[in-house]
Amino acid sequence: MVRLPCNIASEDRVEPILGHALETMKAAGRRLTRPLRLVIETLARSNAPLGAYEIRDTLKGQGKSVDVVTVYRILSELEETGLAHKVGGKKDGYVLCTISRAEPHPAMHLVCSSCGCAEEVPVPRSALGEILTQAGRHGFETELAAVSLSGLCTHCR
Ligand SMILES: [Zn+2]
Ligand SMILES: [Zn+2]
Repeated sequence: MVRLPCNIASEDRVEPILGHALETMKAAGRRLTRPLRLVIETLARSNAPLGAYEIRDTLKGQGKSVDVVTVYRILSELEETGLAHKVGGKKDGYVLCTISRAEPHPAMHLVCSSCGCAEEVPVPRSALGEILTQAGRHGFETELAAVSLSGLCTHCR
């Protein structure tokens, strides 16, 4: 997948991302609806995590109406199929997976505290092992590891 600097409008990546996401959703037996396409497109145009209300408002600004309950449902479907991640940080929201594995997987995001972009990077296996061991020592049964590091991206440094 093409990686673009966070400060460049990423219109070019919308089509390939949409194509991949729709194929994955279809393979997972999900219905390919118009709201689904719209939500994926909106996420693909953003480098920062987006919440359901922001997605709804962005679409509204384009004269497209999708109610927020539908947006929430689509976001959780995308998360269940591993196509999107919920990222916490300065601002909570969802980003599309850029590692392209069509199943939920541990994710690590570098979240810029200045521009808000979130970049997914693979979680090193050894580090993940350590994290899970620590959690286990506290009697915590981890379902899915999501790590985010906050700081400044290359464009904001
Ligand atoms: Zn991912
Ligand atoms: Zn930044």
